[in-house]
Amino acid sequence: MPCHPARARELLGSGRAVVARRAPFTIRLKDRSRAGSAVPGVQLRLDPGSRATGIAITDELPRIVAPEGRGALVRRGLIGIELRHRGGQIHTGMMRRAGYRRRRRSANLRYRAPRRDNRSRPDGWLPPALRHRIDSTTSLVTRLCRYAPVLEIHVEQVAFDTTAITAAAMASGPRDPEPTHAGSDIREFLLAAWKRSCAYCGATGVRLNVEHVIPRSRGGSNRVTNLVLACIPCNQAKGVTCIEEFLVDRPARLESVKNQLRKPLHDVAAMNTTRLLLVKALATRGVPVHTWSGGRTAWNRQVMRLPKSHTLDALATGGFPRLLRPRGKIHHGYSTGDLVAALVPRESGPASGSGASRSGPVVSTASQR
Ligand SMILES: [Zn+2]
Repeated sequence: MPCHPARARELLGSGRAVVARRAPFTIRLKDRSRAGSAVPGVQLRLDPGSRATGIAITDELPRIVAPEGRGALVRRGLIGIELRHRGGQIHTGMMRRAGYRRRRRSANLRYRAPRRDNRSRPDGWLPPALRHRIDSTTSLVTRLCRYAPVLEIHVEQVAFDTTAITAAAMASGPRDPEPTHAGSDIREFLLAAWKRSCAYCGATGVRLNVEHVIPRSRGGSNRVTNLVLACIPCNQAKGVTCIEEFLVDRPARLESVKNQLRKPLHDVAAMNTTRLLLVKALATRGVPVHTWSGGRTAWNRQVMRLPKSHTLDALATGGFPRLLRPRGKIHHGYSTGDLVAALVPRESGPASGSGASRSGPVVSTASQR
C-alpha cells in the first residue's frame, strides 16, 4: 500500500523495512506479510495521450468534509507519473531506415533479384510508433500492479465516438451555456481537432467559442463537420456571414480550414484504435477496467479547479470524486514558504547580567504568505 515518504523513512530507519526497488521506490516490510495485513486497495487511473500518458494511483475513502460536516467519498492522489512517449523519435528512426533501404535498392551496388510482393501484416498490427505507446504503458501498469494492491483500473477513453458526438450535437446543441457532459465531449473533440486555437486567426490561450461554419440561420447543421472554434473577436466579426465571405481576403486560411473540416474524423480513427487496444491489453490482467469519457475528466478537473496536465487528468478520470486538495500545514502559526523578519537586539554592554545576556534574542516576527 503506498505510504507517505516520511512513514517510509521511519520504517527504513527503525530497520522494520528494506528497500526492494528504486523505480518506483518500493520498500518491503520485514515483520509483516501480505496475508496477515488488511489493505483497503487502490485504483489506477490512466489518461492516455499521443505525447504523454498520465498515470495516477489513488485511494477513495469515506471522510467527513469539513465545511459541510457531512460524509463524502474523498479521492486522494498517492502516486502521479507522467510517461512521455517516444513516438516521434521512433517515427524519425523508421523513416531514416526506410531511406537507407531505398538507396540500397536503387543504387546499383550489385545485382539483386526483385523481391516478390508477398508482404502481409498480421491482425492487430500497429505502426511501431503507436505500438510503443501501448507497450510502454502496459509494462508500467504491470509493474505498478505488482507493487500496489490495485483493485480497479480506470481509463480515460476519449469520447471521440464519432456517432455519439454527432448525435449529442443534434440533441443538446453546442451553444448551451450550461456545461453538459455531451457539450464538453464535443468541446474536447474540437479542442483536439483545432489544436486549442482559433480557426480563423490562429490565436491560442484565449477563450474559444464553438462556431458554425455555415450559420444556423442559413441552414447550417450542428454536426462536427460544421463546427470550428473561434476566438470572441473572430466569432463576432463573422456573425452570420459564410466562411467564404468572411475569409475572402485570406485564401490560404480558408483552404486550411476547409481541409481540416474535411478530415475531422481521420486522426480520431487512429487514436481510437490505439486506445481500444490499450484497454484490451489492460483487461487481460484480471483487474476490472472501466472507461470514462474525456469530457467527464475535463468536467471533474474544472469542478476541482485543477490545472490541465496529464497526471492531474489521470487523477480526475472517472466517477464524481471529491478530490482532497492538500492544505498548507500550520505549525506554531507558520507554514512552509512564510517569510519571517527577525529583529535580533545587540548585546547591551555590562549593564545586563551575564545570565540575562545569554537568554537568546528576542525575535519579532511578521508572517506573510
Ligand atoms: Zn480569432
